[in-house]
Amino acid sequence: MDALPPFTATSVHEIPTIHRRVTTNFLDHTTRTIAYRQKQLRALYWGLKDAEPALLEACKLDLGKSAYETYMTEVGWVLNDIVFMDKNLARFMKDEKAEDIDLTNSFMKPHIRKEPLGAVLIIGAYNFPIQLSLGPLVGAIAAGCTAVLKPSENAPNAARAMQHVIRNCLDADSYQIVQGAIPETTALLDCKWDKIFYTGNANVGTIIAKKAAETLTPITLELGGRNPAIISKNADARLAARRLLWAKLMNAGQVCVSQNHILVEKEILPALIEQMKLALAEFHPKGAENNSDYGRIVNERQWQRLKDMLDSTEGKVVIGGKTDRATLFFEPTVVEVHDPGDPLLKDESFGPLIPILPVDSLNEAIRTANSLHATPLGLYAFGSKAETEKILSETRSGGASVNDGFYHASIPTLAFGGVGDSGSGSYRGKASFDCFTHRRSVVTTPWWMERLLAIRYPPYTDAKLKQL
Ligand code: NAD
Repeated sequence: MDALPPFTATSVHEIPTIHRRVTTNFLDHTTRTIAYRQKQLRALYWGLKDAEPALLEACKLDLGKSAYETYMTEVGWVLNDIVFMDKNLARFMKDEKAEDIDLTNSFMKPHIRKEPLGAVLIIGAYNFPIQLSLGPLVGAIAAGCTAVLKPSENAPNAARAMQHVIRNCLDADSYQIVQGAIPETTALLDCKWDKIFYTGNANVGTIIAKKAAETLTPITLELGGRNPAIISKNADARLAARRLLWAKLMNAGQVCVSQNHILVEKEILPALIEQMKLALAEFHPKGAENNSDYGRIVNERQWQRLKDMLDSTEGKVVIGGKTDRATLFFEPTVVEVHDPGDPLLKDESFGPLIPILPVDSLNEAIRTANSLHATPLGLYAFGSKAETEKILSETRSGGASVNDGFYHASIPTLAFGGVGDSGSGSYRGKASFDCFTHRRSVVTTPWWMERLLAIRYPPYTDAKLKQL
């Protein structure tokens, strides 16, 4: 990392020039061919491979993330996406014939052409700084777009490592990186894009949506959290405990799609807490504090926000509770709460706080989940087949996993995205290509069809009416 230039914000005066460069290059049609797109994808692949040690170190510095976790959820994740995209790109780019057309219309060969949307802006978030920035970029390159990436300033080491990769391996006329925070992002939003792809919190999502609306720019919003897990009394307490802890403690809980709160039928609550203690003892034999696999909170501001949340709860801490401002450590902390209005349930913790609310019935759990957030990013249902089906059919969410934490989000070819307040649009797998592609409907009317088409021209005589 020392060999890389330090994190420095891009001058806001440079931003219109950067925008012009990628826009002009898009209009030169350079990015349209499959050969160009594959060359860029493969260059990114090898650039990431070369920079792997720097990327792993960057995530350790920014988030205390272990190399294992960084490879699994960031570097390896993006490499895998590139391989998938490269392998399937020709198929994705192929025209699609219109379905179910009659004989006359078939002569016009109605079909969909896959066109790149244009010059796009991608704004990343800090928690998975590489995956959430380069994942969408892979989709943009595959679709034939040019792009500017603005990584999160809150993961500055990952941002500078990605800058190194992008500047060294991609065509600079098509792909640029802008570093910075609000002033730089605001300057970027003042430019006219063909699409904006934003990952982060809903307040900023609203700013982006308003700004994009001024120029009718399409957006994909990948927003947050407040995801419920619902556990029926018939669930396997051991499996629920292990799987939900896995999902919550990755990246020290800074995961948009992990469960924010657990609603549990009260009969199974004691077993669940017992199993959580056992699982934590197994995952962190010397305690989370002494386990280098366990990450840290990204910065003091976020650590303080979490600490304030913990201090404000009326609930009872049943596991954990240790914190250390100096090292930004926050212990996995399970809190039994009894009021659905508790701040731990109403707000997104985005950290290793695990509030559990006991309920009398599955119906109460579903009602509470829906009242806390009608359209969360994810939902996790534990119970019998009939119970989990009931939970799915009486709730909404961007995605869901049954009898697991956020496993659905780790399937590389399954579209990922929110619904309603948790976002709009999706990506990953083919959805990443589609996200940056315009489906252009085209027909070609043969000259020889003019006699057949005479029926469409006025005057609309009775004779023509009879032929309809
Ligand atoms: P963050 O602080 O990294 O901010 C995200 C991006 O927004 C950054 O690039 C930042 O520069 C930009 N930004 C901040 N303020 C801005 C402003 N006023 N105008 C324009 N841009 C601005 O990350 P965060 O937002 O704190 O991320 C956490 C939230 O994101 C949580 O709610 C989490 O659930 C959500 N999230 C969602 C997903 C998803 O895929 N759906 C993934 C990760 C995080």
